[in-house]
Amino acid sequence: MLNLLPNHIEAIQEHGEHDYPDECCGLLLGEFLSNGNKSVSEIYPISNAREEQHKRNRFLIRPAELLRAERYAREQDLEVVGFYHSHPDCEARPSGYDLEHAWPTYSYIIVSVREGYAADLRSWELQADRSQFGHEELVSAKEVELCQ
Ligand SMILES: [Zn+2]
Repeated sequence: MLNLLPNHIEAIQEHGEHDYPDECCGLLLGEFLSNGNKSVSEIYPISNAREEQHKRNRFLIRPAELLRAERYAREQDLEVVGFYHSHPDCEARPSGYDLEHAWPTYSYIIVSVREGYAADLRSWELQADRSQFGHEELVSAKEVELCQ
């Protein structure tokens, strides 16, 4: 389960809309909780390093940018708990490329951006055997309040 605030979701949606028709990507900074859940406390947008013609269907984070983000996270006493990226005019489910490049335990948020507007947003987690992604429950603080 991934806990995050409504403004984190909005930030991801806005980044996806801003970079449309290219894919956007970024990191989810926060902490791994003792119960196996993760909580996000900050969204860290980064630029997509793919060549122009490939930006629409896959994302790549340059190692230098990842290192910079990890250093920033450490300074804030946070950890990288996952990644997010957009799927322009495609469903919010991981592609074969996403599966090949995923690591276990991290959360992978995908936002579908249809004709420039953010639509479906889902979080995914690689299954233990790495054969496929499983849907990860997203809980935003607003929903938690509504449940109480
Ligand atoms: Zn993807």
